[in-house]
Amino acid sequence: VRPPLARADLLREAAYIDGAWVTADTTLEVTNPATGVAIGTVPMMGAAEAERAVAAASAAFPAWKAKSAKERATILKRWYALMEQHGDDLATLMTAEQGKPLAEARGEVSYAAAFLEWFAEEARRINGLTIPGHAADKRLVVVQEPVGVVAAITPWNFPAAMITRKVGPALAAGCTVVLKPAELTPYSALALAVLAEEAGVPKGVLNIITGDAPAIGEVLTTDPRVAKFTFTGSTPVGKLLAAKCAGTVKRVSLELGGNAPFIVFDDADLDKAVAGVIASKFRNTGQTCVCANRIYVQDGIYDAFAERLAAAVKKLVVGDGLAGETQQGPLIDGRARDKVIAHVEDAVARGAHLVTGGHSLPGAGSFFEPTVLTAVPTDALLCREETFGPVAGLVRFTTEAEVIALANDTSAGLAAYLFTRDLSRTWRVGEALQYGMVGINTGLISTEVAPFGGVKQSGIGREGSVYGIRDYVDTKTLCFEIE
Ligand code: ADP
Repeated sequence: VRPPLARADLLREAAYIDGAWVTADTTLEVTNPATGVAIGTVPMMGAAEAERAVAAASAAFPAWKAKSAKERATILKRWYALMEQHGDDLATLMTAEQGKPLAEARGEVSYAAAFLEWFAEEARRINGLTIPGHAADKRLVVVQEPVGVVAAITPWNFPAAMITRKVGPALAAGCTVVLKPAELTPYSALALAVLAEEAGVPKGVLNIITGDAPAIGEVLTTDPRVAKFTFTGSTPVGKLLAAKCAGTVKRVSLELGGNAPFIVFDDADLDKAVAGVIASKFRNTGQTCVCANRIYVQDGIYDAFAERLAAAVKKLVVGDGLAGETQQGPLIDGRARDKVIAHVEDAVARGAHLVTGGHSLPGAGSFFEPTVLTAVPTDALLCREETFGPVAGLVRFTTEAEVIALANDTSAGLAAYLFTRDLSRTWRVGEALQYGMVGINTGLISTEVAPFGGVKQSGIGREGSVYGIRDYVDTKTLCFEIE
């Protein structure tokens, strides 16, 4: 069943290589997670098509690099405007393939478009440096050059934003791109290519291939023509692919899994903290890498907080994201739901108390009730692994030192959250948390203007912001000797 679109041609069942829409003999089905019903297919491509796409990106690179920053910026701005113009269609398509509520999908489209706008603006500010010479006859100039062909692999949880966050800075810097979107959500990516073409992105500058992830991934991580590999997805796959990149010393950016602690101190504004959990834990049905994963609540307010959170969670409306009132869509697939079930069962078996939710919903969609658990032990799966689902597990703590130790006891280091009214504590705890991003009295931290990324095993590099362009340029020194 195709979703209703004002512009039906935004739904493409073909890949995009060297400026042409390409099909294949075999296909891959894309389904709507809310209904389990097929939307359509995309080509099942492999190594041969990946190599063709790399060749196209490689051939297109010199001319794209040679354009002025302003010319590249003008094209990116047009692409941005087209995304906003067709925002409702892009959102409908996204909800159909990914499941998130339509309002959230529309929000993601604007968030995704904002990266194109931001990096169009940044394109003209990729400045170098002049350094006083190291001898009387020496002059030193440093320039920033595009790295070359960029290969990108992106996940299904943000089918548009994870693409523009990489492609925006890559194109702004003068790089060309081969992208493999997640097989579960390829239509958002392909619709972006339709609009990129309309915006004037030249052929070969952006290529999108769909199909066999390991076969395509093998080419993208080993082909010597690819200068840089950028990945957002799970930690094990990221490690595997980063290792393959070592053979040709590719520049590597990784945005991997998190295990975000969400800390509520006794002096927090309770309503704000509850709203923060709803925003951070339940957005995208808990399927974001910065979702609160472990919720630590201080002794003095623990019971009051648990009660208010449960009341707020009970009000969340679960359903098909295309239905207007929905606040919680389905999980992406049955496998994702199985993991959530296992985490809830494990917590309960270890003595946690189920306050609300806790079960799958009947029917074809992969729905799970928004859930609150209290008295979750710190060795439960809920605290040790990324749940990626709508389950808030509460852990009681007593002292600041204790909760900092608990929060940092993980190999992940993406996002953390803390709620307190004590200014000194915000600094103390904010600095002590070993994370790339810390939300202080807020559950929403993502924006194109701030750097996004993790420390420890959550990744390498930063996306968005003035820092986001750095991953796509090489620094070159020009050393002059004059007479
Ligand atoms: P998730 O658990 O979010 O699905 P994955 O890491 O499996 O995370 O998927 C993120 C992206 O990585 C997707 O585009 C997927 O197709 C891709 N991917 C998964 N396994 C491989 C692999 N072996 N080689 C290349 N890409 C892969």
